[in-house]
Amino acid sequence: AKVYIFQRQFNGFPKEGDLKLVEEELPPIKDGEFLSQAVYLSVDPYMRKYAENLTLGQPFIGRQIAKIIESKNPNFPVGRHVFGNFGWRTHTISSGVFEDKPLNFPVKLLPDFQGLPLSLGLGVLGMPGNTAYFGLIDICQPKAGETVVVSGAAGAVGHHAGQIAKILGCRVIGIAGSDEKIKWLKDELGFDAVINYKTQDVAKVLPEIAPEKIDVYFDNVGGEISAIVLKNMKVFGRVSVCGSISGYNDSNAKASIIQGTITTQQLRLQGFLVSSYIDRWPEAFEQNLKWIKEGKLKYRETVTKGFENMFSAFTDMLKGGNIGKAVVEA
Ligand code: NDP
Repeated sequence: AKVYIFQRQFNGFPKEGDLKLVEEELPPIKDGEFLSQAVYLSVDPYMRKYAENLTLGQPFIGRQIAKIIESKNPNFPVGRHVFGNFGWRTHTISSGVFEDKPLNFPVKLLPDFQGLPLSLGLGVLGMPGNTAYFGLIDICQPKAGETVVVSGAAGAVGHHAGQIAKILGCRVIGIAGSDEKIKWLKDELGFDAVINYKTQDVAKVLPEIAPEKIDVYFDNVGGEISAIVLKNMKVFGRVSVCGSISGYNDSNAKASIIQGTITTQQLRLQGFLVSSYIDRWPEAFEQNLKWIKEGKLKYRETVTKGFENMFSAFTDMLKGGNIGKAVVEA
């Protein structure tokens, strides 16, 4: 068995040596336990953010889809797959009630994916998909005909949130960081307008493509991009403050530059945590699965092969190397 240990607190962008890949010897399983083997592991922005509160010397946090390969627990039979917040490890012994603070997700058997790839359980049919679903529908309550802006639009949550807004009949503007991403959003996912924030001046382009101003903003990035979007919103616009990745690797980031506009535009910005919706995850799963089956929801993944490449998959994602959901195939 292999596991990544959180060796040194991140200082700015994560560096080689912050995590250490080690071999671990696992004991035989006891009654009530099962042994699972990672099949797909997730790399997500929250790992960078939550790291601030993690104890050094412990396995690094993360969610995976694992296959049960040995079991002394009838609720978790051999051959079935589970979602587990087991961290960055190849093998895990669990009793099904895994202590995974600060995330507190229970270990769950995978529902029927109806032939779709199991890796989607880390993306459109999992936590990021549920984030897009509740963060857009519940928090922003978009209505047909409204203009919706999504930042981080080509990522796991963003491409999904933008497509739900399209399904609901909104006009959708996506902001992302490469021409390939922009082209995909426009040509394949049907976003109405797109902005590459690395090559275009968002402050100039956004008012040109949204002269009627913006009703809803699904914010994945925070910082300067969000300050510009907020300035272009309608009075009483709705904002889902999903994340602020632009500040995760920069301890000097000035999140406060957005505060003035929030006041003058009387915006309601609502933070939320997908984990608070845990009881309603099956609802999101069913709906997202249905939309995929109906061809209304497309998905894409950037798959890195090999458990030993987890760290580079993680830092690539933080640099924007992924299109759609970044996952690692063990
Ligand atoms: P993504 O798949 O979107 O991957 C991260 C992306 O962030 C990169 O691909 C990159 O795309 C973009 N990015 C990196 N640095 C910057 C920057 N400085 N400015 C703007 N964009 C940047 O990740 P997720 O979809 O998993 O997560 C998206 C957001 O949602 C994150 O902020 C995350 O923390 C948040 N989140 C919140 C949850 C909640 O419960 N509230 C649950 C899950 C996620 P690009 O090339 O476009 O720069």
